[in-house]
Amino acid sequence: MGNCCSHGSATKRVAKEEAREDEEAANQTDQQATQQTNQQAKSQQSQPKGSPKKEKAPRKNNPIGPVLGRPMDDVHASYTMGKELGRGQFGVTHICTHKQTGEQFACKTIAKRKLTTKEDVEDVKREVQIMHHLTGQPNVVELKGAFEDKHDVHLVMELCAGGELFDRIIAKGHYTERAAASLLRTIVQIIRSCHQLGVIHRDLKPENFLLLNDDENAPLKATDFGLSVFYKQGDQFKDIVGSAYYIAPEVLKRKYGPEVDIWSIGVMLYILLCGVPPFWAESEHEIFNEILRGHVDFSSDPWPSISPQAKDLVKKMLTQDPVKRLTAVQVLSHPWIKEDGEAPDTPLDNAVLNRLKQFRAMNKFKKVALRVIAGCLSEEEIMGLKQMFKGMDCDNSGTITLDELKQGLAKQGTSLSNFEVKQLMEAADADGNGTIDYDEFITATMHLNRMDKEEHLYTAFQYFDKDNSGYITVEELEHALREFGINNDNDIKDIISEVDTDNDDRINYDEFVAMMRKGHQEAEINPKRRRESFLSQELVPEDS
Ligand code: ADP
Ligand code: MG
Repeated sequence: MGNCCSHGSATKRVAKEEAREDEEAANQTDQQATQQTNQQAKSQQSQPKGSPKKEKAPRKNNPIGPVLGRPMDDVHASYTMGKELGRGQFGVTHICTHKQTGEQFACKTIAKRKLTTKEDVEDVKREVQIMHHLTGQPNVVELKGAFEDKHDVHLVMELCAGGELFDRIIAKGHYTERAAASLLRTIVQIIRSCHQLGVIHRDLKPENFLLLNDDENAPLKATDFGLSVFYKQGDQFKDIVGSAYYIAPEVLKRKYGPEVDIWSIGVMLYILLCGVPPFWAESEHEIFNEILRGHVDFSSDPWPSISPQAKDLVKKMLTQDPVKRLTAVQVLSHPWIKEDGEAPDTPLDNAVLNRLKQFRAMNKFKKVALRVIAGCLSEEEIMGLKQMFKGMDCDNSGTITLDELKQGLAKQGTSLSNFEVKQLMEAADADGNGTIDYDEFITATMHLNRMDKEEHLYTAFQYFDKDNSGYITVEELEHALREFGINNDNDIKDIISEVDTDNDDRINYDEFVAMMRKGHQEAEINPKRRRESFLSQELVPEDS
């Protein structure tokens, strides 16, 4: 494709561009220093398997960083920086290697001196919160950790070694309809999840989709939530942000919501099919005029040979009026997206609903452990759920009633029978008072993948293992469960027999971790199967 879609035509970003400078020099010195310690770290690497490793404790005594608002921490103590992977308007991303495990990640470094306004700082904070909030979504780049030191903020993320989707499109020229449809499906599914979780990306473009590896069918991952925002139904935004070619007309009119993401994906689809952007001009100002004019060319080559269904979908995504534009859910049921001979796409359940359902099926001990973990989560990890809770709590009472839960789920595109909602309500309502309070909501909906975080699991284990013996005994379990209002002897027996796989009547750390991880991984891999079993075993239809 032509060079008309070269990187970096951005609006909000344009203002920041002038501040962009090379960070190399600073990085290099740090790197040399850390390379030496790396050798030492390697020799300490092997840990006896099964014993909980004491990951370095958060440096509680370090001064609080002004950007992330938590103790500063030296990323170079844990990671060795390697070659540059790419750069955007805000950050330079390098490959990095975890010193203890040798595992590779990507580290996006944002220079603090570029964060000149309060708003810039808020943007970075929000980027971290949103990435935490989206943890566990299969096609979103996962955040492993956020560090702040004197000069920079570093986001350590899952490494996408396959590079940018943008580069693959260029390499191919353009995609076949079939390939484009399958790619688009993934992209729209990602955005449907983001919208269901109350997040607007606001900067969707091919550069912000990365491929996990070099395979032809490598999984696609969304990244760069640097311009993303949390939203509730009815919220309207007015900041003009995004990258010029992809900006929706209502953004330019300063009154918009989640529909802007669909427009941007429509622009991407247009590019995927023909190789050039639909709204193109020499200057940013003229591009904006084109966008507002809204005329899309379907007459030049190769459009005459592109299927009418594909054109129909592009038109419906590039509809000027956001109210009339298709939603993510509607795009996914458009015939073109489904029509490539593959099995029809089974939609993932609503994300919140999934979490509640999974929570319902958990044993009581696991629920208590989750409450302990919820108590250890940082503000930024909880932020997204807090927003969601507020969105559902219409009367601001601090509790969600049955009706509010039902309406909240319906807003996110899920219609449930009264009976189903009641069951979910009961699952989350730990104290049985008929409403869900904030803590109960967080516990029941916090993303299950967070349980993969070693530090959280270890903290929870220690909470139960009062005498630090390395085992949770029957007495310790009884004691802890009683604290959370579970007194039934049979429950405790059941829990021990379920969790204690080596039958020594106590729970060691490995067994604890296995229990916490059991179930949800299966569920992530095959949502369909889980859904079926949920429907057939756990719910009695309302009218039966
Ligand atoms: P910015 O906010 O500055 O645009 P991005 O998060 O988009 O920053 O990162 C800039 C570039 O760095 C990306 O376009 C990509 O090329 C590269 N990059 C970012 N994250 C990763 C990752 N997880 N794995 C590999 N490369 C990455
Ligand atoms: Mg980017």
